Amino acid sequence: MNEDAPFDLAIVGGGFAGLAAARAAALRGLRVAVLEAKSEIGVRLHTTGIFVREAADAYDIPLALSRRVTRVRLYGPSRQTLDLEGPGYYFLTTDTAAVLRWLAEEAMRAGAHLRTRCRLESAVREGSLWRLRAGGEAITARYLLGADGARSPTSKMLGLTPNRRFIAGVEREYPEPGLLDPDYLHCVLDSRTAPGYIAWAAVSPIGAQVGLAVSDGRRPKIDAFTREAEMIFRLDPQRARERRAGLIPCGGVVKRWSLPGAMLVGDAAGMVSPLTGGGIHPALSLGRRAGQAIADHLRAGAVLPEKTVAAALPNYGLKLLMRRALDTAPPNWLFDLALSTAPMAVLARKVFFHNTAASPVADPSPAGVLALEQDERATTLP
Ligand SMILES: Cc1cc2nc3c(=O)[nH]c(=O)nc-3n(C[C@H](O)[C@H](O)[C@H](O)COP(=O)(O)OP(=O)(O)OC[C@H]3O[C@@H](n4cnc5c(N)ncnc54)[C@H](O)[C@@H]3O)c2cc1C
Repeated sequence: MNEDAPFDLAIVGGGFAGLAAARAAALRGLRVAVLEAKSEIGVRLHTTGIFVREAADAYDIPLALSRRVTRVRLYGPSRQTLDLEGPGYYFLTTDTAAVLRWLAEEAMRAGAHLRTRCRLESAVREGSLWRLRAGGEAITARYLLGADGARSPTSKMLGLTPNRRFIAGVEREYPEPGLLDPDYLHCVLDSRTAPGYIAWAAVSPIGAQVGLAVSDGRRPKIDAFTREAEMIFRLDPQRARERRAGLIPCGGVVKRWSLPGAMLVGDAAGMVSPLTGGGIHPALSLGRRAGQAIADHLRAGAVLPEKTVAAALPNYGLKLLMRRALDTAPPNWLFDLALSTAPMAVLARKVFFHNTAASPVADPSPAGVLALEQDERATTLP
């Protein structure tokens, strides 16, 4: 990169939010640099990579990189089940590394410059320009977008508000799905296994994924659950491969996520559903909105981009309350009781399938809860 030619926009982080922002801004004529710390896009994943329908529809995720799943099987502490589906609704399990590489190619096709092994080391504002040091190089840019995840270094360097509350998730991948029913997202509601969240299993285009997440202050204990899943679904423990693990911000949008000439987006700003931990849809949609708004501001003098993004933010109010309730890890007898009652079936349908007129097929799951992500404004429950 030529340090003498300033970029219009420097984006820190080549994840969902950064790549969506890069493509949108480059398409609107900005000279964009994406600075990614990893050696390649899509390595060392820390996400299950399940897309809710809205994200899948909006981004035209290639069929070859995804699998459509239309049902959710919810397992209680005693492993009783409740099957749910919503007419027309679906989730996509994905070959997540390939989806991220595809998003990167789309951003580059739009004209964005992508640099890997390019960790942001410092950011200083001088006049109207940001002077950045990343991957050992000097880079200048008019606007700085921090899309660098839950522990955002950009946020720290700019003195913005950090995420303080997290859900911790860990997952194993298997190359073969065994007996796992591919038509369902399998979600386990059990405070012993996954206190404060859920455990899950799903078939993806590249095998099976089994994982769990726990609320703040707890450690995810994956071994007992994978042993159970391996036994029930005949997954081969010898062939368990990549481990995906990470933190999901669950305290809602941070207080201060912008300053003149810079903002945070995606996980960096806490733009993640506090209840479900679903963050791909907000990362893509708000990332794109940020890219568009920065371009409109820099090229056409439109309103400050952070105002445009603020107007598009979901209202996480009720979900934050529900997160506090889940953080207490309700006793298992309560889950058992709830799963056998009609109101729980109604609630679970709303959580997993939103406003679609979902119906129980026969009986909550990790991916199912992620459905809350979509259209947060329209749905009453989240
Ligand atoms: C175990 C787990 C499972 C999940 N499953 C789902 C799911 O199924 N569906 C869903 O919707 N959400 C899920 N989430 C949440 C979802 O993954 C995140 O909300 C989403 O990835 C956020 O995207 P992002 O682009 O904001 O951040 P990230 O995906 O974290 O991307 C940030 C990027 O910034 C880079 N970076 C960091 N620091 C620097 C630096 N100093 N310089 C340069 N680059 C840097 C990182 O390498 C990374 O590539 C899950 C999260 C976890 C932890």
